[in-house]
Amino acid sequence: MSAGYGPGRPTRESNQTGTAPPEPSANTANTNCLEGIACSKCGALGPFRIVVSGWATVTDDGTDLVEDVSWEDDAPCRCGSCRHTGLVSDFKHLAAAALVRD
Ligand SMILES: [Zn+2]
Repeated sequence: MSAGYGPGRPTRESNQTGTAPPEPSANTANTNCLEGIACSKCGALGPFRIVVSGWATVTDDGTDLVEDVSWEDDAPCRCGSCRHTGLVSDFKHLAAAALVRD
C-alpha cells in the first residue's frame, strides 16, 4: 500500500466555489432508529418526541437511565421542530408519500 495520494484520488475539489446548497435527498433520510420517518408538516428528520416503552431506572427521586427503548406504529409522535403531532405511522406514511409529490 502506498502512503499519500493515489491516481484515483483527486487532490483538488473543483466544486468548492459552493453556490449550490446541499439538496435534501434520500441520502439525508433517516436510516437508523428513525428509518422512514419524517415530519409531514415541515419535513424535519428529527428530533421527535415519541411515547416509548423501555426499561428505566427509577428511584424515589425520579427516573434515570432509560434503556431498551422501543415504540409501536400507533405511538404518539411529535416533531421537535414544528410540534406537529400524530402517530408514528402517520410520520412513516407521509415520509414515503413525500417522495412522490403530485
Ligand atoms: Zn415538523
